[in-house]
Amino acid sequence: MRARPLQCPFCDNFLRRPVDISFRSMELTGGICTCGSVYVLDRTGHNLGEIFMEALTFVCRGDIDRALALDPGDYDSIDYDYDHHSNMTGGRPKSGKLGKLVFVRLKD
Ligand SMILES: [Zn+2]
Repeated sequence: MRARPLQCPFCDNFLRRPVDISFRSMELTGGICTCGSVYVLDRTGHNLGEIFMEALTFVCRGDIDRALALDPGDYDSIDYDYDHHSNMTGGRPKSGKLGKLVFVRLKD
């Protein structure tokens, strides 16, 4: 996969670097797209399960009970290799390690 600028997989918006967010009881590094999708960064690339749960909770506005009750058919999700330094997905990092970026969007 070729490296390319960070873009929402659902609406093709170009997105900013993930930022540190404190939301209710959550602390994460990520962002929100105008289409309603959210993205969460896993800096190490090794905590994907945990980050995925954070993304689900974040897209449910911090409602963890609702996040846990979601069926896989209730949302779309995609994860990318991500280089925080260049704000690019895919490709190989110029320096340091690749993290993972998880996108989740609830279906209507
Ligand atoms: Zn979007």
